[in-house]
Amino acid sequence: MRALIKRDPAEGFEFDENCPIDEPVGDECQIKVTAVSVCGSDINLWKWNDVARTIASLPFIPGHEAVGIVVKCGPEATHKIRQRVAVENHFYCENCCMCDAGRGDICNKMKQYGHGKGTTQGGCSELSNVSSKYLYPINSSITDEQACLIEPMGVAHNILERIDIVGQDLLVIGCGPVGLLAIACARGMGAKKIYAADVIADKLELAEKMGADRVIDVTKEDLHETIMKATNGEGIPRICEISGHAPTLSKCLKYMRKGGKLGLVGLPKSAVTFEDPLPDLIFKSLEIHSVHGRKIFHTWEECEKLIESGKVQPEMTVSHRVPLSDFKTAYDALLSGKACKIIMDPQN
Ligand SMILES: [Zn+2]
Ligand SMILES: [Zn+2]
Repeated sequence: MRALIKRDPAEGFEFDENCPIDEPVGDECQIKVTAVSVCGSDINLWKWNDVARTIASLPFIPGHEAVGIVVKCGPEATHKIRQRVAVENHFYCENCCMCDAGRGDICNKMKQYGHGKGTTQGGCSELSNVSSKYLYPINSSITDEQACLIEPMGVAHNILERIDIVGQDLLVIGCGPVGLLAIACARGMGAKKIYAADVIADKLELAEKMGADRVIDVTKEDLHETIMKATNGEGIPRICEISGHAPTLSKCLKYMRKGGKLGLVGLPKSAVTFEDPLPDLIFKSLEIHSVHGRKIFHTWEECEKLIESGKVQPEMTVSHRVPLSDFKTAYDALLSGKACKIIMDPQN
């Protein structure tokens, strides 16, 4: 079968026309992958930088946002042939204290699909073997592309649920794919006024189309000043930080309303410090939440409903659709910063 593979600690992926695949064993299903989307974190894997060395191990087939159809079943598989499924890539162990507490999403011994963590399997391949328990059955009429985007959309949905945005004003900092999906989810979930901040005009334009009421180009407007003015000096009650820009994260508490809730999704690459912790943090009695992935499978169910009802159209984030064999075009676009979400078709 056709697959992308990373075997060596060098830049790029190999395209293998004749990659072998085992027969599914135990509760595994073999899926024919119909769509796989490229994640921002896949850039690290492509470059094989320091981040990649901590989140992945060689060799592996990349692609952790995948959807497909079950074509073969191991003897204990719990899905049937022809079932459409999406992959939950947090492969939880079922034996640690987090799994005991029903928190497989943050399992202590988590293995990860598309990262070479405990499995070489990934979505950038024609066929893939995955244990039934990590497969979410898609029974609605949503498209394969939409189903595959539930993975990143779920991260946005998960943090928005945690910071309880219903009826609240919200600021989303960072309008990459997850930020844009957060804006659309927040709209669909019932947030009041949604502010969106970024440094790139094109992303802000899309943010507006996806449901932001007020976009803030921070190369032209001061975020702190704009938010304080817009909220009559009271500050914003909910912030979703998705830029991962450490200085922005440090400063955002200054324009956060007392009793506010801050959701952290972006990945800061340096230390986050709070200049004035007493007035900005302690005396504000804030709640700070972070998430890693999705609630299994609660988040998947909620996202599927939002898409099916038409409240969220995750495909609005798709900028490129390419056959798997054209993966270099996809990565060139991604590395040049010109792409938003890229969908690859492993059957072509
Ligand atoms: Zn992802
Ligand atoms: Zn576990």
